[in-house]
Amino acid sequence: MDERLIEVRDLDKAYRPKTFLRAKGEAKLANQGINLDIYQGEVLGLVGESGSGKSTLGRLLLGFESPTSGQIRYFPDQEGTQVDFKPQIVFQNNLAAMNPQLSVLDVVAEPLLRTQSRAEAREAAKDYLEQVGIPEDKWSHRPRSFSGGQLQRVNIARALADQPNFIVLDEPVSALDVSVQASIINLLMDLQEAHQLTYLFITHDLSIARVISDRIAVMKEGHLVEVQATEALFDNPQEAYTRDLLAAIPSLKV
Ligand code: ADP
Ligand code: MG
Repeated sequence: MDERLIEVRDLDKAYRPKTFLRAKGEAKLANQGINLDIYQGEVLGLVGESGSGKSTLGRLLLGFESPTSGQIRYFPDQEGTQVDFKPQIVFQNNLAAMNPQLSVLDVVAEPLLRTQSRAEAREAAKDYLEQVGIPEDKWSHRPRSFSGGQLQRVNIARALADQPNFIVLDEPVSALDVSVQASIINLLMDLQEAHQLTYLFITHDLSIARVISDRIAVMKEGHLVEVQATEALFDNPQEAYTRDLLAAIPSLKV
């Protein structure tokens, strides 16, 4: 776990408020002075309160947006290397991202049509639906008939079918019933191992981050306050803010 996949240096991201109520809003720094290394094959948890800048950092790492200043480097960045950096994302709101007219098989196959024939894309989609545990008799069904947990499985299959090596999971289980969360987390952990994936796992829920993460980065008001191996963070948090977050986990309260 010591090959770097991503290096972030002195990263800032500013947004101008969109509100009409303020004529000239001051730019707000959603990410501020971020320094972070992400290693190949690790699960890095990114935790923090709502609005702390987690999704912004995820979008910057995916290249969906550009930093206001600072650098993001992706490895390997030398010519002649076999593996390219290939990111994918899984969001919380899984139904919104799917064409409601398609069967889930075609939902998964659709992005593959850019590079594959329809038959090839559908074969691949079957394989990925199998891997995420969607039974064959459901492949022809439309997304609307699926439960939240099953939809998230389809969403994961679609991300996997692109053969990424880095996946940003932005609150992937936050919209699910607690009883379903564990099965999705287990699936994600199995897939991570099987496909040697690197995850940035974004969550506001520290107890979920603890289960899946090798390391955890704590974000507050656009800053990374602390990055530690998961158990070290729980055993020996370095920052007062992290201690407050840990104290707020219901199941950990004494
Ligand atoms: P989190 O994911 O931790 O809840 P976000 O990264 O979504 O936090 O947001 C961090 C801050 O940046 C918030 O104050 C949010 O309102 C602001 N922000 C995020 N995206 C935009 C945007 N596209 N335009 C303006 N402000 C934004
Ligand atoms: Mg967010």
